[in-house]
Amino acid sequence: VPRVLLLLPTRSYRIPDLLDAARRVRADIVVASEEPSAVEELADGGLLTLDFTDPEGSARRVRELAATAPIDAVLGVDEDTALTAAAISAALGLPHNPVDSMRAVRDKTWMRTLLDAAGVPAPSGREFSLDDLPDRVATEVPYPCVLKPTFLSGSRGVIRADDPDELTVAWERIARILEEPDVARRGGTAARRILIEEFLPGAEVALEGVVTKGVLTTLAIFDKPDPLEGPYFEETIYVTPSRLPAFERREVERVTASAAAALGLQHGPVHAELRVHNGRPAVIEIAARSIGGLCSRALRFGAGLSLEEVVLRHALGMDPEPPARETSAAGVMMIPIPRTGKLVAVRGVSRAKTVPGIQDVVITIPQGQRVVALPEGSRYLGFLFSRAASPEGAEQALREAHAKLEVVIR
Ligand code: ADP
Ligand code: CA
Ligand code: CA
Repeated sequence: VPRVLLLLPTRSYRIPDLLDAARRVRADIVVASEEPSAVEELADGGLLTLDFTDPEGSARRVRELAATAPIDAVLGVDEDTALTAAAISAALGLPHNPVDSMRAVRDKTWMRTLLDAAGVPAPSGREFSLDDLPDRVATEVPYPCVLKPTFLSGSRGVIRADDPDELTVAWERIARILEEPDVARRGGTAARRILIEEFLPGAEVALEGVVTKGVLTTLAIFDKPDPLEGPYFEETIYVTPSRLPAFERREVERVTASAAAALGLQHGPVHAELRVHNGRPAVIEIAARSIGGLCSRALRFGAGLSLEEVVLRHALGMDPEPPARETSAAGVMMIPIPRTGKLVAVRGVSRAKTVPGIQDVVITIPQGQRVVALPEGSRYLGFLFSRAASPEGAEQALREAHAKLEVVIR
């Protein structure tokens, strides 16, 4: 029986799906979390506490434990835990991504630098300090451009500017986000930096894959059919299979593989986002983890495996090749937060569930909580899932179901 260590931040959406996957591969499960659990002592090695912000310390701790009870795979769920998982895997001699690569992919400027050095198509960019004068910065960048923090996610603080006036407004707005106490603490020196890139037009896609000994296998390519033109970049609908022409899909795979290689990724899941303009893809970003939120629930492989199972089986070396995605089309919509305020109610959920093709509707924010719209916000209201014979059908079902929801925010 394989033994797997799962690094689960207490607030992750993905805990049930990952636990489920571990049970389905019939593994013994050890769960590590960042907060001590009251039952740790009783759990007989099945629970432990690790400081996910200290990859080396976590690796030492797990190596001691593994001396008596070996561990066969280590899996994280987000950027922080994926980095710690890599450090632990290195200490245990398991296949893993180099820890330096994991650090590079978490830093948008570092990632840009490595992609540029390898000649991978990507927007040009330049990093500035919050100490720079925005009026001055405004004269030194191309327009339209995109301003962004280097270490956040979910499009938080990502703002397009078409001229110097818009740039200074965006700059101040991002500076305020970076000064929020939890953001400042998490970012450290990175919370003093703003990356400014040329704005790349074109259709956006996401590629989900796994890298095995440096070779990329594509699991799915998603189209993002809602235009992402800014000024804020709210992610909404993802639909697979992609409707791009076959040769453009192959280019997306080729460019993603070159990006993974440029970053030194060797083993594990990747989630890449690209823009395709005039048939040519460019990398917006690539993460060394699988897709976030509950989006993975849109995917099913082989005889009904979840993405988490595919990733776990990959980490355990169980399949010579990952199984193919099902043949039907599937979609997911990250339900946007229309404005900032207190969430009073989300009405129409059961009506949305009756829309043909809709598989599930999951609201992830409890009533009564404060919700924050982009660009300051960091969460989605929930997720809609669809399945249909064609990508058009999967997209249409999501739009219809979303139209049935009434989100009341005060
Ligand atoms: P995050 O890590 O928060 O997701 P990204 O760098 O991926 O930040 O940016 C979020 C979104 O903003 C992208 O998916 C894309 O739609 C848009 N975007 C970011 N950078 C650019 C760019 N240089 N040109 C065009 N669009 C961009
Ligand atoms: Ca990201
Ligand atoms: Ca992104």
